[in-house]
Amino acid sequence: MSLNILFLAHVDESGAALPKAALETLGAAADVAAQTSGTLTIGLVGESVPKAANSVAAAGARIVAVEGPDFAYPRYASDAAALEAICKAVTPEIVIAPGTSRFSRVLAGVAQRMSGQVDTHITSLELVSGALTAKRWFYRQRLEAVIQREARPWFLGMDSGCHAAWITTGTPATAKVETIPVQLPAEAKRTAFAGVRVPNADAQTIRPDAKLLFVAGAGWSKKQADGKTHLPEAEKLILDFLRNSGASLGGSKSLVDQTGENQAVLGFMTHLNQVGQTGSTPRHPKGLSTCCHGEEPHVVGWRFIHERRAVNLDPNCGWARGKADVLYVADAFQVMAALNRMLAEKAQKEDAVPARG
Ligand SMILES: Cc1cc2nc3c(=O)[nH]c(=O)nc-3n(C[C@H](O)[C@H](O)[C@H](O)COP(=O)(O)OP(=O)(O)OC[C@H]3O[C@@H](n4cnc5c(N)ncnc54)[C@H](O)[C@@H]3O)c2cc1C
Repeated sequence: MSLNILFLAHVDESGAALPKAALETLGAAADVAAQTSGTLTIGLVGESVPKAANSVAAAGARIVAVEGPDFAYPRYASDAAALEAICKAVTPEIVIAPGTSRFSRVLAGVAQRMSGQVDTHITSLELVSGALTAKRWFYRQRLEAVIQREARPWFLGMDSGCHAAWITTGTPATAKVETIPVQLPAEAKRTAFAGVRVPNADAQTIRPDAKLLFVAGAGWSKKQADGKTHLPEAEKLILDFLRNSGASLGGSKSLVDQTGENQAVLGFMTHLNQVGQTGSTPRHPKGLSTCCHGEEPHVVGWRFIHERRAVNLDPNCGWARGKADVLYVADAFQVMAALNRMLAEKAQKEDAVPARG
């Protein structure tokens, strides 16, 4: 079986590279192309694509692109028109795209325009009995679906963190880009890009690309050995750790629910941080749980965390029952203070090393 595969990507916010999720998806698309002895074409969208195209030139694939100021920012009308034009130029059987927020909005619409079918949140692609097979999770990550389709073109939106990113093995190359002109009708420009509003770096505690998931549980807001709560200290320890380590912040349901119950809370913790059965199931190589009991409805959210460690005063907590690789029976206030000291010392040493000239 030889498949005509189109990998789609948009240029990232720097305007010069592809997002990490796109490089992971390119890794998956290149694997499928190799397994099926298929043809891989790269389709790019952005204000200016040459730099991003050069970064993937070593993949040895044909590169087609739609570029210009109209395609600098996400907008349904322009993105759908661009992807449709690329699909019409390439006439692929399989279209593989990263499930970024920009592409998640348009992929189904483009599939419809191409009379194809679409599946999203794909976590893996492989050949099973000679047929391309996609997998995704349903019902809060409890059921894994195995999907094969006769329909062509078949559009597949891949989740991030599911495949190793494609990396250049050869010397940097200059890409030959075939640019497809796309004229947008006036009504496509009714929606204009106004600007980006982002919370400041401290408020942005959910970091999908972080190597570590740091989970805070309700223990942080409970009375400690001295019979008192220590919320300001807890806030400082957690925020310092997030700043020093770059970790992503997760919370247990008990902790995030306290916000709604008008209790004294950690100000930066919201329901968006909740990990578990009724929360999220993030993907990170490592996880560190603190002051969280490790009950099943919480731990099911750790399905995609490879190496798990927990800090709890209770040697019989849920983590001790095979749910963590390592359980430190210790006071998380002391452990995190010591960790922050070590991270600060490490940062100081790195700052002190003179730059090599
Ligand atoms: C239908 C349903 C869905 C649910 N969905 C979710 C979900 O999505 N996510 C989720 O998290 N929960 C969920 N839950 C709730 C879940 O069952 C637990 O109640 C919740 O995870 C408990 O949170 P916790 O471990 O932070 O709090 P607690 O159970 O109160 O545990 C606090 C822990 O902190 C420890 N501790 C206290 N002080 C310290 C200290 N100084 N150092 C170290 N450790 C300390 C204590 O020993 C204790 O183990 C769900 C429940 C139901 C019924």
